[in-house]
Amino acid sequence: MDPLPRSADVVIIGGGIMGVSTAYNLVKRGVKDVVVIEKDEFFGEESTGKCAGGIRYQFSSKVNIELSKLSIPIFERFKEEFDQDIDLNFCGYLFILGTEEYVEDFKKRVALQRSLGVETQWLTPDEIHKKVPLMNMEGILAGTFHHKDGLADPSSVVQGYVRQAHRLGAKLVTKTRVTGIRVEKGKITAVETDQGDVSTGIVVNATGAWSREIGKMVGVNIPIDPYRRQITVTAPLEEIPPDLPMVVEFPNGLYFHRESGGLLTGMSNPNEPPSFNTAVDPDWMMVNLEALVHRLPVAEKAGIRTSWAGLYEVTPDAHPIMGKMPEPEGFYCVAGFSGHGFMHGPGAGILMAEEILDGRAHTVNIDRLRYERFLEPGAIERMEAERGVI
Ligand SMILES: Cc1cc2nc3c(=O)[nH]c(=O)nc-3n(C[C@H](O)[C@H](O)[C@H](O)COP(=O)(O)OP(=O)(O)OC[C@H]3O[C@@H](n4cnc5c(N)ncnc54)[C@H](O)[C@@H]3O)c2cc1C
Repeated sequence: MDPLPRSADVVIIGGGIMGVSTAYNLVKRGVKDVVVIEKDEFFGEESTGKCAGGIRYQFSSKVNIELSKLSIPIFERFKEEFDQDIDLNFCGYLFILGTEEYVEDFKKRVALQRSLGVETQWLTPDEIHKKVPLMNMEGILAGTFHHKDGLADPSSVVQGYVRQAHRLGAKLVTKTRVTGIRVEKGKITAVETDQGDVSTGIVVNATGAWSREIGKMVGVNIPIDPYRRQITVTAPLEEIPPDLPMVVEFPNGLYFHRESGGLLTGMSNPNEPPSFNTAVDPDWMMVNLEALVHRLPVAEKAGIRTSWAGLYEVTPDAHPIMGKMPEPEGFYCVAGFSGHGFMHGPGAGILMAEEILDGRAHTVNIDRLRYERFLEPGAIERMEAERGVI
């Protein structure tokens, strides 16, 4: 889109939601020389463009709930601020729980959410059935629902950020791969790409599933691994009501929501090894569809319209790595959102701009998300992971 400049105040590597949101927030706050470098032909084609578009407050960790509280109101005012429709639909997330263990765990989550002002409802099986009469209630013990959870269109959100960041002076470059980062005396001095070098003192790693590769360029081990996750979309079904919530089942991780008059469904394969493979696995698709038909028998009538696979960018504790990195000087990271980054992208961009411009993110305390948490011996084993990963 823009030619690659030869120098910049800030170079952001990666043009998914994290990169473009960070760029927008930097130029909005007056930084002029910001460049986003994306290897693909378009922005937001990787994890962001392949995601299910879910946005929710219902998490198990305080900091993730706070990231939602910062981000979801931005989706709400997106049309005004960005002049971009994003198909926002507050259909709610309905979690349905099939074991006593999950019931107990979700009670704790709901108590935490309420203590932070998120009024999640606790539902009995009768109340769940009333909400989604089409659902087979077998084995469902209880559920939770939050009416301000829902869906938005990821490509439109990326487009809104790209357009407004560009209008405010950011340079956005596609079809350019970062191949190296130059460091002199412990400080970043330039980014190397297959289209030439850009001198800069600040680099933001916003490469999601590829973050480990960028870390290697400066000798830092970034513990983010790629995991294939796939989605199937059915042909329209007249029985699917327009107000169907996003339904997520535990323990199997099945999820589905209304999409173009049909259903979009996914389910994480717990045995998937880390890899960059994004070919659709037809066997796992069948497992997913069987679980869907069991829970929503009407789905049996639907033809398959399309399916695709993308990558989750997973850290050991399913929390992102955000903020200034301990080394080299000028290196920042906003990556590893572990399968729920689309919804936290708007807030993450604000916090990264604060971190770079004010020396420290302050709207939300991100100390829990800093890279340093991995440095103490045995730290990973002691970490409390986010349990609301789907
Ligand atoms: C199937 C699926 C369903 C999901 N559902 C949801 C959901 O419902 N809600 C939700 O919030 N999240 C969901 N997610 C997770 C969400 O998509 C991610 O957390 C989020 O998109 C991460 O954004 P990102 O900008 O970090 O990564 P990406 O969107 O992957 O962007 C990183 C970019 O960096 C670029 N890049 C990498 N290396 C280089 C390099 N060397 N040079 C230049 N560019 C480079 C890549 O091309 C890529 O465009 C889902 C993910 C998947 C796969």
